[in-house]
Amino acid sequence: MAIKTMEELFLHGLEDVYFAEKQIVKALPKMAKAVRSKELKDAMETHLGETKEQVKRLERVFKLLGKKAKGTECPAIEGLIEEGQELMKETKDKDVVSAGLLAGAQAVEHYEIARYGTLVAWARLLGHDDAADILEDTLEEEKNADRILTEIALAEVNAQAERAA
Ligand code: ZN
Ligand code: FE
Ligand code: FE
Ligand code: FE
Repeated sequence: MAIKTMEELFLHGLEDVYFAEKQIVKALPKMAKAVRSKELKDAMETHLGETKEQVKRLERVFKLLGKKAKGTECPAIEGLIEEGQELMKETKDKDVVSAGLLAGAQAVEHYEIARYGTLVAWARLLGHDDAADILEDTLEEEKNADRILTEIALAEVNAQAERAA
């Protein structure tokens, strides 16, 4: 679609994260399976549940705007997920895989934080405060997921990976 207005750019952004969240729903179970740390596995599984809710939240936002919920391909998320898949293939030690996938998961969270931060600002700019509030709930959830991953990396996963022979 040709984008001319901020309204259209905002809608395009929503379609981008809608696509991204759905890809994340598919990728997280594989990532959780590939890591050794129980804490990390649990964090990924918890965030999978949150991500499924985020998909539903986006559907509520589309509805509020009177638009059909649809995704538009997000090459950024495809690239981030592909990096994780390559890492799983190329890395032999499971503790090292855990550290790498944790870092990859944080890259995904950072992408989402960037996107939702912008979408909240644009929603407010365009007077869609009800949509902005919903998007802000997801933004906070992504920031929290990122914080938890940092804690797990520093508490155990990085050190365990470093001890790998
Ligand atoms: Zn509007
Ligand atoms: Fe998300
Ligand atoms: Fe994107
Ligand atoms: Fe997330």
